[in-house]
Amino acid sequence: MSKELIREIVVNVVGKQAEPIADLLNSKKHVNEFNLAKKLEITINQTRNLLYKLSDQGLVSSIRKKDKKKGWYTYFWKIENLKAFEFLKGLLDQRTNQINAQIASREKNQFYVCERCNLEYKEENALFMDFTCDECGEIFKVKDNSKLVRALQRNLKSIDGEMKLVEIEIQKERDKIEKQRIRKDKKEKAEKTRIRKEKAAIRKAIRDKEKKKAGFKKTVKKKVAKKKGKKKAVKRKVKKLAKKKKVVKKVIKKKSKRQKASSNTLKGTRVRSSGRK
Ligand SMILES: [Zn+2]
Repeated sequence: MSKELIREIVVNVVGKQAEPIADLLNSKKHVNEFNLAKKLEITINQTRNLLYKLSDQGLVSSIRKKDKKKGWYTYFWKIENLKAFEFLKGLLDQRTNQINAQIASREKNQFYVCERCNLEYKEENALFMDFTCDECGEIFKVKDNSKLVRALQRNLKSIDGEMKLVEIEIQKERDKIEKQRIRKDKKEKAEKTRIRKEKAAIRKAIRDKEKKKAGFKKTVKKKVAKKKGKKKAVKRKVKKLAKKKKVVKKVIKKKSKRQKASSNTLKGTRVRSSGRK
């Protein structure tokens, strides 16, 4: 159904002869304008004229891509469904208003006809013409509006039916857009969570590294302190040994003094004893 409605919309803007462009543009992806021209068997300028007419009504969107070799831009086009259906709704509203006005006018006013010439006049004009046809001199007859009013009412009913279909399509398109928005939001949220987790992991890694560093520093300090302690102990030992040495030296000195003294006394006795001989 939506395909037929899109065709009706496009025909309304670019005319019946350009109807085939409707199906070509009714695509999920944007379509290359050169491909459109080729398929429509018209020139690129004629194709662009059609596209600009549709674009002026906001019924199509375009994207452009740069040709890296030639350096120029190629445009790609597609129907904007929601805009198109809303446009058609506007058209149907207008038609409904016109028909309602016609019916009201037929019901309120009297019309006169010349049945021979098949010409119709409003009451004030018929009065001005003295209810006589300018062309053939025939006397006007009062127009029976009932047939016309019935036709207009039938027309109104069919427009109303189409309007319902268009409203369904509009709702479908809005639902689609809403779904896309929700999907996008979800994606964005997931992406944000992922980034947050990644950042937290990085922060934790940094903290762990710093902890390790601090721990390493502590052990190094401990080792240094231990070494210092050992050095001090060695120094103390050396001092102790030096003291011991001193004491020993003193003892030795004392001993040797004593020995000298005793040997001297021994000599004396020996001398004395020899003198006796
Ligand atoms: Zn006439």
